[in-house]
Amino acid sequence: MFDQLGLIGCGLIGGSFALALKKAGLVKRVVGYSKSPSTTERARQLGVIDIAAPSALTAVSGADIVLIAVPVGASEAAFKAIRHGISGQTLVMDVGSTKLDVIEAARSGLQDQFAAFVPAHPIAGKEVSGVEHADATLFSGRRVIVTPVKATLRSNVQRATRVWTGIGAKVSTMTPEAHDSALAAVSHLPHLLAFAFIQSLGSHENGEQFLEFAGPGFRDFTRIAASDPAVWRDILLANRTQVSAHSQAFRRSLSEFEALMASGDGQRLEEAIAKASGSRSQWRPGSDPSSD
Ligand code: NAP
Repeated sequence: MFDQLGLIGCGLIGGSFALALKKAGLVKRVVGYSKSPSTTERARQLGVIDIAAPSALTAVSGADIVLIAVPVGASEAAFKAIRHGISGQTLVMDVGSTKLDVIEAARSGLQDQFAAFVPAHPIAGKEVSGVEHADATLFSGRRVIVTPVKATLRSNVQRATRVWTGIGAKVSTMTPEAHDSALAAVSHLPHLLAFAFIQSLGSHENGEQFLEFAGPGFRDFTRIAASDPAVWRDILLANRTQVSAHSQAFRRSLSEFEALMASGDGQRLEEAIAKASGSRSQWRPGSDPSSD
């Protein structure tokens, strides 16, 4: 059991982690800090954190476990802010949806305490953000990818694995490069496409009228377009090289489908759809699909 969780970023994911640790009896107290004092106070009122800290450094002082749960672009500032509150005994983790950039942010921000940091990404979430949506069961049965690097303390990787397993998650280990490529393909590009699709519909002169006829297919295809703008701005910028590469491949595939339609070749169009349909039918989620 941990004495104190220092939580930086009291939002959906950070708040859910705090509630899950409490529910599993893995922590005695949670001290939280968020950029806006109103968010930190709201987290306290909701019982997600026990003490609202006035700074990130105060939140981690005396903590034996620290979670950074901010948009990935805010990571470096958060690591810098906590550096002097970290000791050799502290386990530091993040939850960012991209890993190479966050690892560099930690290297630069934590400096001599970098070895304490275990990069982690829970494949669990919602398209709504904020502490109001925090949920103690969010990680139950879901996959968490940890991406340790050479310098990472092995004992902290083991502690991180025990924590995530203790709140019901299934832990996988990957390199940060493999993580960012895979997540670009199955998460970041689909979000980009959903944003672009909704934008194109919105800019059509009859877009609003079309929406009146939208059904379950539209709902399923576009759910993730309602995701948090600041969180997704940071993810798409941080992983832009990988996302662009997958986006180019997608463009080629879209062009192939357009060409088949233009040619009127129904048989080949059906074959292409059957191939895609078969792949989708065979897919079984490694964790719940309602995640980022
Ligand atoms: P969220 O609900 O918007 O929470 C983010 C929190 O970070 C907010 O409380 C915000 O505080 C705080 N914050 C922002 N900048 C900060 C700073 N400089 N210092 C301290 N606190 C700061 O977002 P979220 O969905 O929990 O996302 C958090 C992280 O989880 C992101 O890195 C994201 O990539 C990752 N993630 C998200 C999902 C998902 O489905 N949402 C899934 C897996 C991983 P204010 O309210 O004061 O602005």
